[in-house]
Amino acid sequence: MIFITLSSVNQHKNKHCGILKVDNYLIVNKIILCYNFCVKDFFKCFGFELSGEQLQLFDKYYRILTDYNEKFNITAITEKNEVYLKHFADSLLGAKFIDGNFIDIGSGGGFPAIPLKIFNPELKATLLDATGKKCEFLKEVVKELNLKDVNVICGRAEELAHDKLYREKFDCATARAVASLPVLTEYCLPFVKNGGKFVAFKGDAEEELKNAENAVKILGGKIEEVKKFDLSGNLRTIIVIKKEKSTETLYPRSNAKIRKKPL
Ligand code: SAH
Repeated sequence: MIFITLSSVNQHKNKHCGILKVDNYLIVNKIILCYNFCVKDFFKCFGFELSGEQLQLFDKYYRILTDYNEKFNITAITEKNEVYLKHFADSLLGAKFIDGNFIDIGSGGGFPAIPLKIFNPELKATLLDATGKKCEFLKEVVKELNLKDVNVICGRAEELAHDKLYREKFDCATARAVASLPVLTEYCLPFVKNGGKFVAFKGDAEEELKNAENAVKILGGKIEEVKKFDLSGNLRTIIVIKKEKSTETLYPRSNAKIRKKPL
């Protein structure tokens, strides 16, 4: 299990990047406050071993993200330490739940899809977003990072999910910071094959989990796993919803209906 805490204790300090090590716990508050942190060790704190090439890709991604952000509003988070923690490491928290051919709904600046693809080059990724500028940005990232098997689509989830090219075609669907869990489940589960899964990246999700029970059942899913992580003081939850049977063709409904009357 990954366990990161913010508590400050006087323990052994790694002189290169200020990582404090206490028993089996790694405390990263010192590095996230420091600009010149050691990126390789930073990822290691979360249990992710990255090659030099992967670290270079993250560095390039960070630079493209911040360059683009000066003209277009892609993300509110721009400081290097914050981007590495709240975008890159946060996206990788779901890595072990995702395999094969996945679709990231409302990918925005590419989260969680791009970090997942850098971490596991075997994945086949489809990045969907409703905003043209974000899709242009995503295409630029894919080109600059020379990522293979990544497809960027501009469109709305609730419409595309009815297209037979995409409906029930993916091993996994992912989404972070797009909508509440009942709404998100209606957007995402129709894309997933039977036996596949929808992996939701959430903060504190207790309330949403209760509210989503009905939607999950109606859409043919089952909540399989709920994993909580402490990401340097922020509670993060990965929710794995397994698809057990086909979603009725009625779903997803129009956006107005989904929002007005979540399942
Ligand atoms: N997943 C990213 C972006 C979150 S912002 C992250 O975690 O940082 C939400 C994004 O979802 C926006 O880029 C918005 O354009 C997109 N979005 C919202 N509703 C959508 C829908 N119905 N279909 C496709 N994209 C949608």
